[in-house]
Formats: sequence, structure tokens, C-alpha cells
Amino acid sequence: MEKTLSIVKPDGVEKNVIGEVIRRFESKDIKVVGIKMVKLSKEQAEGFYAVHKERPFFGSLTDFMSSGPCVLMVLEGENVIPRARKIMGATNPEEADNGTIRKDFASDIEHNIVHGSDSPESADYEINYFFNQLETV
Ligand code: ADP
Ligand code: MG
Repeated sequence: MEKTLSIVKPDGVEKNVIGEVIRRFESKDIKVVGIKMVKLSKEQAEGFYAVHKERPFFGSLTDFMSSGPCVLMVLEGENVIPRARKIMGATNPEEADNGTIRKDFASDIEHNIVHGSDSPESADYEINYFFNQLETV
């Protein structure tokens, strides 16, 4: 079974779609095996998104990610990394398929409601960044 790290970002928490995001994963047979709410510091957001530190949007992205509470989740399922990303939709909501989380709820390319790891390597890094062994089942 594959695992991935998903986040309901501060805009998703603000828009009261925590339950809706989880429902969309659960309805596709994806299990929540770890979950917690946190308000990230700017430094924690920078460490999480370290792969993007040279991008022009890094400062704004990490301000956004530390602007309010997030829900961090470890999801588990068969091929969950690509399947969760399909349910999320494209990074830019204008390019996201109908029926995806980002198409339905995101306001722009930065404030796009949800995160999902993009590879087994990043899933490993991201899960271990936020969860210790006692915090997943
Ligand atoms: P994804 O979250 O779909 O894997 P990326 O890893 O490319 O997308 O980017 C990480 C996050 O950075 C995105 O989810 C989004 O919040 C933000 N982002 C990506 N591209 C841009 C951009 N061009 N302008 C502003 N924010 C962006
Ligand atoms: Mg990414």
C-alpha cells in the first residue's frame, strides 16, 4: 500500500471544506491513516516547500501556508500518489478538470485548497517532515 501526504491548506480551512476534501478521498477508497491540525510557522512552511526555494512565488507561497491553520493528513491506498493528485486536479484551477477539488473550490494558482505529494520520494520526505511513527496507524 502506498502513502501520500495531503494538506488542506489555509484557504481550504477558511472556506470550511475540510470535510469535503476528506470525503472526496474517502469516497475513492483512500484511507486517512494520520491527521492533525497545525498552524505552520514561516520557517516550517519554508522547510516543507524547500524544493521550490528558487521559484519566484516561494515567499508568497510560504506566507500563505503559514497564514492560518492547515489540516495535515497521511493518506493510504493503492497508487494513492497519482490517484490523490487526480482527485485534486491541476495546480492552476483554471486548468483543472471538472469535478476536481481545485476546480470546485480553488480561487487561483497559489490558493488552491489542497496539497498532495508528487512522487514516492517526496511522499517519504513530506510524511516524515510532519508525522512521527506514533502518529500514523
Ligand atoms: P502542486 O501543488 O500541484 O504539486 P507545485 O508543486 O508546482 O504544484 O507548487 C506548489 C504550490 O505552489 C502550488 O500548489 C501552489 O500553491 C503554489 N504555486 C505553484 N505555482 C505557482 C505560481 N506560478 N504562482 C503562485 N503560486 C504557485
Ligand atoms: Mg508539488
